[in-house]
Amino acid sequence: MSCLMVERCGAVTFKRSEQNAIQVRMLADGRLSTGHAGVLLAERRGSYPLIDLHILKTSAQQGEVESGTRRKVKRLLSFQRYCHASRLLRGLVPHAPGSLHLLDEHYLGQAAHMLSKVGTWNFDIFLFDRLTNGNSLVTLMCHLFSVYGLIDHFQLDMVKLHRFLSMVQEDYHSQNPYHNAVHAADVTQAMYCYLKEPKLAEQLSLPDVFLGLMAAAAHDVDHPGVNQPFLIKTRHHLASLYQNTSVLESHHWRSTVGMLRESGLLSHLPADMSQDMEQQLGSLILATDISRQNEFLSTFREHLGNQDLDLQLASHRHFMLQIALKCADICNPCRVWELSKQWSERVCEEFYRQGDLEKKFDLEISPLCNQQADSVPAIQIGFISYIVEPLFEAWHRFTEPSLLSQTMMGHLHKNKAHWSRLRYTHTRLDTQTCSHTEKRESEGGDGEGEDIP
Ligand SMILES: [Zn+2]
Repeated sequence: MSCLMVERCGAVTFKRSEQNAIQVRMLADGRLSTGHAGVLLAERRGSYPLIDLHILKTSAQQGEVESGTRRKVKRLLSFQRYCHASRLLRGLVPHAPGSLHLLDEHYLGQAAHMLSKVGTWNFDIFLFDRLTNGNSLVTLMCHLFSVYGLIDHFQLDMVKLHRFLSMVQEDYHSQNPYHNAVHAADVTQAMYCYLKEPKLAEQLSLPDVFLGLMAAAAHDVDHPGVNQPFLIKTRHHLASLYQNTSVLESHHWRSTVGMLRESGLLSHLPADMSQDMEQQLGSLILATDISRQNEFLSTFREHLGNQDLDLQLASHRHFMLQIALKCADICNPCRVWELSKQWSERVCEEFYRQGDLEKKFDLEISPLCNQQADSVPAIQIGFISYIVEPLFEAWHRFTEPSLLSQTMMGHLHKNKAHWSRLRYTHTRLDTQTCSHTEKRESEGGDGEGEDIP
C-alpha cells in the first residue's frame, strides 16, 4: 500500500511508500530533491514522541539550530509517519486495518450487534474497538456511510473509501493515551448522535452529513500528543509553518486533504465540488481549536437569543455542524461515569507525559501538565465549569431540549459532583498528610502508630 501525504503551504511536499519510501523535498528554487528511505529511516530510529527532543532542547536553549539539524526537523512534518518508519525498522508490522477476518466470529457478531445500537448515548467505544481488533474508526465510518446511503449518493469507490479510512485510522498515534483513533471513533459516534437530533436531522443534506462525519473522523489525525504551546516553545517546524496559529488543527486538516487526494476518494467529482468540500472540512476541523471557544459560543448565544437560525441556509447549517463537532469533541464529561472517567484519566495522562518531557528538558511545565500539582479531579472540574458546561447549556437550548440533551446534562452534573467529591477527598488526605508530617517534625517523633484516615 502506498501513501502520499501532501501538506501544501507553499513549503514542503512529502511522499511515502511502505516498501520503497522516497523523501521528496521542495527546494527554495522550486526543484525537488529526493533522498532514499534508508537514509531517512536510519535518522528516525527509536525517537519518541516522534519529535527529536535533543534537537528541540538545543533549539529552545540556544535559540538556533545547525543547518543539518534544521533539515532533520523539517522532515518531521508527519508525526505519525516518523513513528511508522521507526516501527517498521524495529520489525513491528502494524496490524492491517482490514484484518477483521482474523477475528473469531463471536467477536464479529458482538461488534455487529453493537453497530445496531450505534445511535445510543451509552455506546461503549472502548469495547467496540476491542471487538473490531482496533478498527473501530474504519468499521464505524463504513457502517455510517452505508446507513446514510452516502456511497450511492456520491458514487464512491469502496476500495478508495476503505483506503482513505485506513490511512486516517493508521495516522492516529495508538501510543497517545487520549488523542488516538479511539477518540476519533468516539467523536464520530457522538457526531452521529447529534446529526440525528430532530432539530438538525430534518434540515441537513447528504453533503452536510458526509462532511460532518468526515470531519469528526479526521479532526485530530496525526496528533503528536503534545499541545500547541509545546510545539511553539520547542520551535517545531509546524509551528512556524502555520505561524503559531491553530497549528495542530491546520495540520489535521492539511493531512486529511493529503490523504483525500492520495486515495482519490473524490477524484471523480467536479474539481470545484471537491475543492469546496476540502475547504468546508478545513472550516469544520479548525473550529475544534479550543482557543476559539468564546468566538463560537458568543455567536451561538447571539443566534439563540435572536432566534434567527435558519437551517434552510447553507451557511447556518455549516455553523451548526461546527458547533455539533465542537460538542462531540468535548462530550466526554457528558457520557456515563464509567466511560467518562476513562477519558478523563487518559487525557490527564497525556498532559502529565507532556509535563514530564518539559521537566526532563528544562522547559517550563505547561498549565495542567504537572502531575504533582494538578490532580485529575481538579483538571476535570475546571474543564467542565469553564469549557463544557457553557457550550452544552447553549446546545441544550438549541435542541429545545431533546431527550439526548437532557440525558447529557444529567450525566454532566452527576460527573461534576463525582469529581468534586473526589477532589475533596484528595485535598483532605493531602492536608492531613501535611499536618501529620508537620506534627511529626515539630515533635521530633517518627510518627509510628499514627493513622491517616
Ligand atoms: Zn479531538
